[in-house]
Amino acid sequence: MINCCKVPFETIYLHHGWGSTCCPNWYDAYDKRTDYTQEPQDVWRGAVIESHRREVASGDYSLCQRCPLVADEGMKAPIRGDWEHGPKYVHIADSMTCNLHCWSCRAGRCLSDPLADSESAERFLRRFLEHYRTTIEEVTLLNSGEVFASQRHVRLLNEFDWGTIGIGIITNATLIERKWATVQKIHGSIQRFIVSLDASNEETYSKVRLGGSWDAAVRGMELIRDLGRPLVLHYVISDKNVRDIARFADWAQRWAPERVELIPLARTYARDDWADRDVFRSGHSLNHILQTELATATTIPGVRLLS
Ligand code: SF4
Ligand code: SF4
Repeated sequence: MINCCKVPFETIYLHHGWGSTCCPNWYDAYDKRTDYTQEPQDVWRGAVIESHRREVASGDYSLCQRCPLVADEGMKAPIRGDWEHGPKYVHIADSMTCNLHCWSCRAGRCLSDPLADSESAERFLRRFLEHYRTTIEEVTLLNSGEVFASQRHVRLLNEFDWGTIGIGIITNATLIERKWATVQKIHGSIQRFIVSLDASNEETYSKVRLGGSWDAAVRGMELIRDLGRPLVLHYVISDKNVRDIARFADWAQRWAPERVELIPLARTYARDDWADRDVFRSGHSLNHILQTELATATTIPGVRLLS
């Protein structure tokens, strides 16, 4: 039995009625169709996903070339049969609803995602979680929007019987202070926070987190820090915040993060017309500043570049 990437054998991302075992920004093997009538097994054991598992198990990573984990030996393990019973980790990525409209993520505002906010979407999600509740260890919300901006996801947090399932929250931190009291039921179930901030000061923040309030984000960070759960901070690097990387890495320490992950723009929803914004591009006029900033930032323990 060879060691191979364990992600496809442990993890499922749930999108608009379809699933992918890895982040779709990072690989090219998923069956993208909107079908909220699919059975949970048809998603977890879908033909495209099964084929990707077979490839990875045989050491073939040809579909994974954009993935930062492809060279991470720590993610590799011998695969045993228990994955057939269901996923350990579920990432809910089925709604674009967000109170912000960062240009690095979307072209405009999405205060409500009609497809995702439908009753059939809600039924599909609950059916999936119910079906695999004995294998699931942790559910993470929300990979494609802001959980506290989505009425459906706040309702899910409050109404689903989570039992021993842990919850991870991905958030921009701007709404949590206002919404925290409304999700009392899951306070004890939250196991981690992942917060994307992309700035260490209001001026930079206003250039990258469109529609966001710096003061609200800082108040949200204070609440998260006081909860004392494991925290990962994300910083997507572009021409707008490249001069703030080292300052951010230093400033971030006040929130006591487990890790600070510096993420090249090309690892997100990169578009062809972003060439001027991607400072990692060879020949970019700000590339030398990037190198200096990264050299300083990554000397701080826990700060790493997702390359
Ligand atoms: S290397 Fe990345 S894309 Fe490939 S199977 Fe692992 S997590 Fe998925
Ligand atoms: S806060 Fe996050 S989900 Fe919302 S627009 Fe910005 S990057 Fe996208």
